[in-house]
Amino acid sequence: MSYDMIAYCTRCWREVKSEDKVCPGCEADLTLDHRTYEEKLLGALAHPLPEARVRICWLIGENQIRHAVPDLISLAEEDPDLFVRKAALESLGTLGDPRSVAILRTISLGENRFLAEAAKKSLGTFMPQAKSSVRETHS
Ligand SMILES: [Zn+2]
Repeated sequence: MSYDMIAYCTRCWREVKSEDKVCPGCEADLTLDHRTYEEKLLGALAHPLPEARVRICWLIGENQIRHAVPDLISLAEEDPDLFVRKAALESLGTLGDPRSVAILRTISLGENRFLAEAAKKSLGTFMPQAKSSVRETHS
């Protein structure tokens, strides 16, 4: 497994190298954390810094970690930081999981233009035909 690893100390949230055995920040024993890389990434969605959450959202998309979809949906709906919400929407677009269609639709029709644009773009990535006008649905 040769991910382009990004790892965090789960005690102080400092970024550490995958080969570090001890956190250079708080000296926590990193070898005690037996979770998988994916589990650590998911856990890091709770990182206190918005910039870090943005990055984790992106990584989850890049690594196609599908079981993160429910967490990304919560972030897209509720994160206090707009950029994190946007990153979550983009990641949902990258993952292209059907579970996220409803939320992407809702946000794409919402009042927040910044988020609506991101949601529309993500919707477009996994259902390119759906871009045509809704008015065409008459039979
Ligand atoms: Zn630490």
